[in-house]
Amino acid sequence: MLIDSHAHLDSERYADDREAMLARAWEAGVGAVLAIGIGERPAQMHRALEICRRFNGRPGFPKLYASAGVYPHNTHQADAAVLSKLDSLLAEPEVISCGEIGLDYFHEGAPHAVQREGLIRQLEIAANRKRPILIHCRAKEGTTDAWDQLLEILETHWRQTGLGGIMHCFGGGWEQARRSLELGFLVSFAGNLTYPKAQPLRDLAARLPLDRVLVETDAPWLAPAPHRGKRNEPAWVLRTALVLAEVLHVEKEEIASATTKNFFRLFDIKADVGN
Ligand SMILES: [Zn+2]
Repeated sequence: MLIDSHAHLDSERYADDREAMLARAWEAGVGAVLAIGIGERPAQMHRALEICRRFNGRPGFPKLYASAGVYPHNTHQADAAVLSKLDSLLAEPEVISCGEIGLDYFHEGAPHAVQREGLIRQLEIAANRKRPILIHCRAKEGTTDAWDQLLEILETHWRQTGLGGIMHCFGGGWEQARRSLELGFLVSFAGNLTYPKAQPLRDLAARLPLDRVLVETDAPWLAPAPHRGKRNEPAWVLRTALVLAEVLHVEKEEIASATTKNFFRLFDIKADVGN
């Protein structure tokens, strides 16, 4: 059994076959999926939770969990009403995480100061609801500003909660990975781990302890080899898990049980996969 720790199940790209797509995940051995609740914009933050409720309890589907959060480039919309909606969503038992939140200086969008402010407000809400966070961090090519500022914010505003979180689709260097581990975070790898040019990322993954790693699809994006370029889906998380097993020199069963255990330990929930 594998857990896909990050998939946008509410994406419009699954409008026609969401049920079949989730059934394929179950058949491929995916026992649980964390559905990311950021929507296209904050008004759709609740959609991941709706999908959880539609499928949970139905045999033949993975167990679904949800997150809720305001994506870095939507933080200019994070007004009082949006933050209050986020707070209510995090009170729901299925909504186990606040995210994906963080800093994205790679793409043009919300001003950096607005992103930082939006992140800090959400950290306060997540801390109050005792929910671990899901971090998205993307630096501008050749710089580490986004990482430096993110880690400084987490060290000041998050470390003391002891709640930890996930560095989703990790793309930083060793220094950023080391500081993430120190903050009690898990490091999650997506399909890009399988790409030919990703040797530096595989070298980094090889240095991580088995009890601190996760796998994810980030579906519908970042399909792993050999599906690269296609619409991604949770069933394909196995591809990334196989590469991670190879770089960590463990059997595939071991990577499956370790990543599953890591997931349930972080969220402090009883191991529960399938329906
Ligand atoms: Zn994502």
